Amino acid sequence: MTTQISHWVNGKAVAGTSGRQSDVFNPATGEVQAQVPLASTAEVNAAVKNAAAAFEEWSQTPPLRRARVMFKLREILERDSKKLAAVITAEHGKVLSDSEGEITRGMEVVEFAAGIPHLLKGEMTEQVGGGIDSYSTRQPLGVCAGITPFNFPVMVPMWMFPVALACGNCFILKPSERDPSAGFMMAEMLKEAGLPDGVFNVVHGDKEAVDALLHNPDIAAVSFVGSTPIAEYVYQTGTATNKRVQALGGAKNHLVVMPDANLEQATDALMGAAYGSAGERCMAISVAVAVGGVGDALMEKLEPRVRALKVGPGTDPESEMGPLVTAQHKTKVEGYVDTGVTEGAKLVVDGRGLTLQGYEDGYYTGGTLFDDVTPDMSIYKDEIFGPVLSVVRTDTYDEAAELVNSHEFGNGTSIYTSDGDAAREFANKIQIGMVGVNVPIPVPMAFHSFGGWKRSLFGDHHMHGPEGVRFYTRYKVTTARWPTGIRAGADFIMPTMK
Ligand code: NAD
Repeated sequence: MTTQISHWVNGKAVAGTSGRQSDVFNPATGEVQAQVPLASTAEVNAAVKNAAAAFEEWSQTPPLRRARVMFKLREILERDSKKLAAVITAEHGKVLSDSEGEITRGMEVVEFAAGIPHLLKGEMTEQVGGGIDSYSTRQPLGVCAGITPFNFPVMVPMWMFPVALACGNCFILKPSERDPSAGFMMAEMLKEAGLPDGVFNVVHGDKEAVDALLHNPDIAAVSFVGSTPIAEYVYQTGTATNKRVQALGGAKNHLVVMPDANLEQATDALMGAAYGSAGERCMAISVAVAVGGVGDALMEKLEPRVRALKVGPGTDPESEMGPLVTAQHKTKVEGYVDTGVTEGAKLVVDGRGLTLQGYEDGYYTGGTLFDDVTPDMSIYKDEIFGPVLSVVRTDTYDEAAELVNSHEFGNGTSIYTSDGDAAREFANKIQIGMVGVNVPIPVPMAFHSFGGWKRSLFGDHHMHGPEGVRFYTRYKVTTARWPTGIRAGADFIMPTMK
């Protein structure tokens, strides 16, 4: 019998009632392992109503107590990290060590959020006028929603909810319907950590659930992470209903290899960043830009490494790369390889058509490497979101920088060089939100903030870190006077200080 996944509302599991559901596959074997309910508008609205009712008490709970829930959550995450990692691997397909890595990155946001009493401290000025003081505070917004992608079912929700909850908000998580179980597990952990019922809820679903959140007047803010067309839709629809929205989209991240780069390091960097998690990372490197004749030496190092990639089920400790998430996604990724060949790119390593003994129905594809890719090709322009690395060659650094800058996406980029001057110029001038210097995947730590530029992010705030606190709170300034016995009479002009 396949497992029936539940929503989580008001501190308990709630079965879906819409009559709509979706299969959850094990990508390693191709088997259906569970069914996830797809919430109706009425089910979403009921969850939001519960969360709105919980807001008054939670928002008035002292930040120190809210922080203690985060400390406890961290302990539980640590205790159960192997169980949670197994759930990620079973539904997403990534290798277990990578699942554990994403839990650690998520836990770091919980650690950051545990510092909320300090983070919420405002500013105070005495004597803004005679006997008058002013102080600023940051207050929670209300019920916030998080709509998340399949590729990080734990880390991406944790970019959002620890900060939102610690700031005093209630939260509705709408996880990806492809790997929904981790969201449910995190709800159980939050309850065990002492979070009051109704403060955190999980509603599974598809477009109907997302639209219900975007149109519900009790949702104050929406955090979204996913593909660019949906990010843009969520941003436009959410802001049209006067919500605060941060919507992170897709990416095409370039790694620039300068002629003076350490090629061993650059090759290691490209292997991990292009093929780790089968390329299903928004910070994956999918383009290597070989500058000033370094291309031949780079290809010589890369080709055998890509051929030797160990592809297998995520539960096998020998696997370096697991399967893709669904059969449709595998077809899409391999379709791009077909297109690359038609468009005239040089196919150096072909990952198509890989089958594994004992796992014939899994969604495996091997690592693919293209050389001589040009900017007009769709394999260069589009986000493939699979283990496909395109090498583009340029004569100069300026041409390489121009490529990075003119791409529609602006999530991450990196440069490999031993020239500090070139690295500084790159970090200073490149039009991208997250920049690496001799670091392949420059994902900011939890106490900085995560976000891209251009069509990789719609909205004004990046996620977690200080930007997360700003996103999940609004600013208030109070100006106070305590006059005793003196009446100055009514003032009809703007008060000024002379
Ligand atoms: P997706 O856009 O298909 O789905 C994301 C979320 O949107 C899911 O919860 C899904 O249920 C919902 N959704 C899907 N179609 C919808 C529709 N028509 N209307 C409303 N909601 C809809 O993305 P995905 O395939 O799950 O994830 C991969 C994408 O996410 C890639 O493009 C990747 O680059 C991006 N991503 C970006 C970041 C970042 O930080 N910028 C991080 C992780 C993933």
